[in-house]
Amino acid sequence: MKKLSKKVLLTIIIAVILLFIVFFKISFCKELMSSKETINMSNNDIENLDEQKMESGKEISKLNVEKQEKSDDETIEQKEIGQENQEGLENEIKTEKIEQENYKDQSDEENQINKKIEIIENTFKEIVERIYVSNESNVKGTEYITASTDSSYQYPDEWLEEFNEKIIQFQMEFPDGMYWNHMGSTQNEIGVTDQPCSHSKNGEKYCNHYQGISTKICGFYMGTQCAGFVSMLSDRIFGTDAPTRIFTNYDDIRIGDQARVNNNSHTVFIIDKTDEYVVVAECNADYETCEINWGRKIERSQLSGYYITRWD
Ligand SMILES: [Zn+2]
Repeated sequence: MKKLSKKVLLTIIIAVILLFIVFFKISFCKELMSSKETINMSNNDIENLDEQKMESGKEISKLNVEKQEKSDDETIEQKEIGQENQEGLENEIKTEKIEQENYKDQSDEENQINKKIEIIENTFKEIVERIYVSNESNVKGTEYITASTDSSYQYPDEWLEEFNEKIIQFQMEFPDGMYWNHMGSTQNEIGVTDQPCSHSKNGEKYCNHYQGISTKICGFYMGTQCAGFVSMLSDRIFGTDAPTRIFTNYDDIRIGDQARVNNNSHTVFIIDKTDEYVVVAECNADYETCEINWGRKIERSQLSGYYITRWD
């Protein structure tokens, strides 16, 4: 009995131990399984995460590509803008160069014009100097047109000397060969130019005007050309208040008188007179240019018109 009990007890104990072992094993297996599942799940998670990571990576790459493209675009745009700016700048520089060249051209042109003006002024100075030299020689009685002082007619004391001084002055002021007009100017300045009027082309447009008492007595209401010039000289010798008178006898001609000649178509100013001829100053003898001339002799026989005097 005791032996049996011991065996049974031992068996029970073994059985219990086995049961425990089985139980623990099962339990362990379960845990193992569970752990495996967890691991699997974890693995899945890792895979998912990897996938997500991959996708994220792709997206990042994509974004990087876009960024790069955008950056490239910006660079191109910037380059284009840069090129445009550069082109604009080049154009500005070109424009500036052209302006500078134009300015240079203009400046050159101005310089050339100034040089020409200088040459003309110098030439004019030389001409004036020659005239003055010529006048000096005239003062000495070699070339000047003056009245002779040994006239048979008794002029007032020193009148002829004073007349000659004025006549010399007039020859300086209105030189022989110059033109009594204002070519190139709209002003009637009663000066002279070196350009002829060309009446056939310009009419009386550039002729000087002087309305004196002498022209009025001839019936001219606008003293121009020959009549105006002579009327001006007469007024400057006798004064504007001196009366006028018309006569026709050659012997009565006095120095400073005026003569209507060429069938009453031209007026001359008498500087000197002999029994045979007169010496005159005149303007526009050719009816075309208003050229001034001093010293022409006109024979008595050719003076068939009338005369104008300021003498009493
Ligand atoms: Zn004229």
